[in-house]
Amino acid sequence: MQITEMLLTNQTARPGTKIVPKGLVIHWTANEKKGADAVANRNYFNKPTTEASAHYIVDDRQIIRCLPETEMGYHVGAKSYKAEALQKLSAYPNDCTIGIEMCVNADGSFTKMYEQTVALTAELLKRYGWAVDKLWRHYDITGKNCPAFFVDERTAQAYFGKNAQAAWESFKQDVHRLLTGFPQKPQAPVDNCAVELTLATTGKLIAGTAYVPVRLVAEAAGATVGWEPSTKTVTVNGHELNCLHENGTAYAPAREVAALLGMEVSWDAARKTVVLRG
Ligand SMILES: [Zn+2]
Repeated sequence: MQITEMLLTNQTARPGTKIVPKGLVIHWTANEKKGADAVANRNYFNKPTTEASAHYIVDDRQIIRCLPETEMGYHVGAKSYKAEALQKLSAYPNDCTIGIEMCVNADGSFTKMYEQTVALTAELLKRYGWAVDKLWRHYDITGKNCPAFFVDERTAQAYFGKNAQAAWESFKQDVHRLLTGFPQKPQAPVDNCAVELTLATTGKLIAGTAYVPVRLVAEAAGATVGWEPSTKTVTVNGHELNCLHENGTAYAPAREVAALLGMEVSWDAARKTVVLRG
């Protein structure tokens, strides 16, 4: 694959910040004018007033590298990010992603540009040891309509003659096919299963009443535990509990805790064990 290195010298778009990539972000240039090819977009990024950049720009003739993959580009910055991006990438996804711009200039072949992008993407995934789950649309991170032919229905129909989600899935399929030589296996339907959690912890038996450590039990059940140090008040999902405090741990009667958590409580005398079930 021929990659032309034309690294940006514009420091407004190339801060030089080192990054460790965790994913690839696919964009389109959104410029359908004649001549808006990879070189033209690279030169736009390199204007001193431009604060945007991406690592690669692909047209029907060449792939241009604008930034080393280990340096940050400005391609997915936004005021807010989608939850999945925050969870899987970072609070500022520019600091861990490689951006690829797809050109849509009217005087270029979209099909050839698409094929070159698939080839570049597969090459990068292979080099990093990643699968197609490391691919993101700009839209998946910020909600921006980019690349519009993978997001917006009318644009997807115009470019691919299919709906936007299907077009994006086909792109990933094409990348995967090149990466592995085989199409993706259809996912088998997944069954749900129950999860039982056993907490090995010690409670207290006081005058025939079993007390359990509140925070450990409540948080395992998915409840929120509050603690007000000045009054030594413990709350579970906002409800106050009368607790005993010992070595920094708050204990409350198992029945009261279970009631707040919507759990059933029973006593196994043989094992001297209180059983909570929810
Ligand atoms: Zn974009």
